[in-house]
Formats: sequence, structure tokens, C-alpha cells
Amino acid sequence: MRSDMSKTCHKKGPQASIAANLLTLKKQLADGCKACGRDPADVKFLAVSKTVNDQRLQQALDLGVRRFGENRVQEAQAKWPPLRQKFPDIELHLIGPLQTNKVKQAVELFDVIETLDRPKLAAHLAKECARTGKYLPLLVQVNIGEEPQKAGISPHDAVNFARDAIEHHGLNVTGMMCIPPLEAPPAPYFALLTKLTREAGLQEISMGMSGDFTIAAQLGATTVRVGSGLFGAREEI
Ligand SMILES: *Cc1c(COP(=O)(O)O)cnc(C)c1O
Repeated sequence: MRSDMSKTCHKKGPQASIAANLLTLKKQLADGCKACGRDPADVKFLAVSKTVNDQRLQQALDLGVRRFGENRVQEAQAKWPPLRQKFPDIELHLIGPLQTNKVKQAVELFDVIETLDRPKLAAHLAKECARTGKYLPLLVQVNIGEEPQKAGISPHDAVNFARDAIEHHGLNVTGMMCIPPLEAPPAPYFALLTKLTREAGLQEISMGMSGDFTIAAQLGATTVRVGSGLFGAREEI
């Protein structure tokens, strides 16, 4: 009896914490939205599941989480196809860099690619979308802080790049995403991404992570990407 009980407790621990984290996140989002008169239903969580193992993913799925973000094609390919069989309504986003030699795999595997970050990738995606007939939604990744080490289109070029991807390449670009500089307060960068997205006539705005998603929501995010806030701290890989 005793050993059974400790087993149950052991199993319940992490699950309870994902459940508790999810409640906390929803409450924080609701409070943040309320403070600025925004409907929390207009802001969706993307559960960032990079490095998260199957057991934890299953717990999130059992709690009803269906939108997930992965930053590596290879890792996503290994984790998600079996889970998708069980949960056909999963929505999987690529939020990490996409090499042109993985475009075929990525278009097949993902429902949304958030990291359209250069003209060459637009050309490759255009070919693959045309070949497969799968015109999946794409977000333009904007290098919002113009950091030399970061991927993304310069804020000065982002609107024209998005227009060109739609009009010239026929891509289904639906919005923009950004990762602001680590060291600076994110609000001005979030505000700029919203401005650029609206200028381009697009709807989707993916910005904000565990540490700053309420600010992002207040400044126009339609998707906030939360990893450690839901699943707990990641081991660096
Ligand atoms: C890892 C990652 C996140 C989530 O970061 P947390 O701080 O764990 O919430 C969001 N967006 C991108 C692009 C990421 O790579």
C-alpha cells in the first residue's frame, strides 16, 4: 500500500505543476489584458516544447493544450508524428531557424512556420508550397533590435519583404514574429512589431515569452510563446 502511494505521488508531482503553471499563466494573461481593455480570448498561448520529453508533452495534452512550438525540425520530427495520430487537432509551429535543405520536411510537419527570415527561404518555401499545394501560414521573423547575431528581416525592410513574399512568391504570410534583445526592456520592440504588422496589413503578431508575455499581450500580441513558464526550467542543450 505504502509503495503504491508513493508511486502515485511521484507520478502526480510534475503533472500537478504543469496544471498549476497553466492556471497561473492564464490568470496572468487575463489580468494583463483586463488592465488594458483587451479580450484575453484574442491572445493565444503557444506552448514551447523544445527539449520537453514525451511524458511532459502528454501531460500538457491531457490538460487540453494543443498549440506547440518547436525550434528544431529534427527534434520535432522525432516527437510529434506519433502524438498527432492521437491528437489530430494539434497545431505545431516552427519557431527556430529553417535551413533551405529542411524546407520539404518542415512544410510537411508544421502547421505554421514563424521564422521566414530571408529572401532565399521565401523562394524555397514558394516552390515547396506550390509543389505540395500546402500553403501553410507563415510569419515574417523581424530582427526587431537590429542585432547582428540574430536572424530576421530588418524592421526597415519587413513591410516590403512581407508584401513581396505574398505578391511575388504567392506565400500565405499572415503576420510577423520577433525576439527582442535580451538586455533591454521589451516594450518599445513589441510596439514596433505591432506597428509593422499593421502597416503590412497582417493580423498575426507572435511575441512575448515566459518573462514578458503580459507586456506583449498589452502591446498587441495575438500569440505569446511560453516554454519554461509552463513546463519548468529547460536543461540547456
Ligand atoms: C525557447 C523559446 C521561447 C520560450 O522561451 P521561455 O522563456 O522558456 O518561455 C519562445 N520563443 C522562441 C523563439 C524560443 O526559442
